[in-house]
Amino acid sequence: MQDIIIVGAGPAGTSTATFLAKKGYNILLLEKEKFPRDKVCGDAIGPTSLRRLKEIGICNIEKENFKSCSSVCFFSPSNTKVKAKLPLVEGLDDFGLIIQRKKIDYILADHAIKFGVKLIEQFEVKQPLIENNKVIGVKGIYKGKQEIIKSKIVVAADGTHSTIARKLAEKGRKHKSKYSAIAVRTYFENVEELGNYLEIYYEKSILPAYGWIFPISNTSANVGVAIHYRHYKKQNKTITQLFYDFINNNKYAKRKLKNAKMIHSLKGWPVSYDSHPSKKYHSGVIFVGDAASLVDPLSGEGISNALLSGKLAAKAIDLALRTNDYSELKNYQKEWDKLMKPSLNASVLLQHLMSYPFIVDRVIKKANQDEKLAQTLSGCITGIFPKTKMLSSDIIRRIIF
Ligand SMILES: Cc1cc2nc3c(=O)[nH]c(=O)nc-3n(C[C@H](O)[C@H](O)[C@H](O)COP(=O)(O)OP(=O)(O)OC[C@H]3O[C@@H](n4cnc5c(N)ncnc54)[C@H](O)[C@@H]3O)c2cc1C
Repeated sequence: MQDIIIVGAGPAGTSTATFLAKKGYNILLLEKEKFPRDKVCGDAIGPTSLRRLKEIGICNIEKENFKSCSSVCFFSPSNTKVKAKLPLVEGLDDFGLIIQRKKIDYILADHAIKFGVKLIEQFEVKQPLIENNKVIGVKGIYKGKQEIIKSKIVVAADGTHSTIARKLAEKGRKHKSKYSAIAVRTYFENVEELGNYLEIYYEKSILPAYGWIFPISNTSANVGVAIHYRHYKKQNKTITQLFYDFINNNKYAKRKLKNAKMIHSLKGWPVSYDSHPSKKYHSGVIFVGDAASLVDPLSGEGISNALLSGKLAAKAIDLALRTNDYSELKNYQKEWDKLMKPSLNASVLLQHLMSYPFIVDRVIKKANQDEKLAQTLSGCITGIFPKTKMLSSDIIRRIIF
């Protein structure tokens, strides 16, 4: 029997696997795809993600040839723009990197293997194995054959579409399977006027989500749009139409992309935000990353939270296995809520406020004249600051007056 089976080798799964392998557990990491594999994403690895990578032992990644960004350029619905440097905060880099997921996820998986994690690719988990209401392993398909593997604990790191979450919901676990937003992304080359900054476009039709142009080199970029389902339902346009509206009609995006060539198909993916009522653990199973809906509702950033959830889950699993008391898994949820809930709650509130174009216009116009406000905005959107900082009385005053 395995100590721990981890389903899914994205950032959440590989983070959990590495932390547990370092503690000496035998870990089986099951991944349905074969590396290197793509994942629809903006590819922005912000300063908090970089810190989480360092905690796992992936250091000096900035020395590789990845595009570095030290500012964010915000574009308002009425075409005001402000470029804000990332704030310098102790313990964090004042830059982020843009790394395509097929590269960073491969680096993470490779790193986990170095610590003794056993990775099986192209193993698709079909359902959890349950005995007396407790998850005791998984059933899946490998090389065309059905396989059953038992373990003491199962970690569901299988992303937004989590099979484990869906199958347990069928068996009565409370689970909100509703997605919060939808996004599409592609890559362009020969993009003009790219710099060492992320570009975030608050378009009226998709608020409080945004369109983005994130440079992966001096001339190529990851380009996409997202929209929340509650607004999408009221739209008479598809997400693809909204994407083409953005690249063809936005004053600035249009100029940058006028001679650019799309080099990748446009791919869509749903996003689940952390306003999830269900518990992040269940008898014998723990949910991490997107399988636990840990994406930030305001920025859409999820890699940092996925990596952090792996660290916290590993700590709780270690305690549960050492004490042979599976109720200790509850510590994972407790620690998560203590560390992240205030910021995530503020994110939900900000996201509602930013549904109004006049508010976004006001914030960006004011940030244009106020460096502190601009840096707070860039710090909050990239996860350097908790989102509560945007709601402080000082910042509200700066926006209003
Ligand atoms: C369009 C878009 C843009 C985004 N941009 C950013 C960004 O710029 N920066 C950022 O920080 N976050 C971004 N996010 C969020 C980020 O992509 C996710 O939060 C992050 O990928 C979560 O990692 P994860 O490991 O939980 O899940 P995933 O990365 O989805 O990994 C899950 C893994 O599980 C595997 N799997 C799934 N089902 C099974 C199964 N049944 N059996 C075996 N394996 C399985 C999958 O193949 C995959 O490898 C974006 C999301 C979207 C949709």
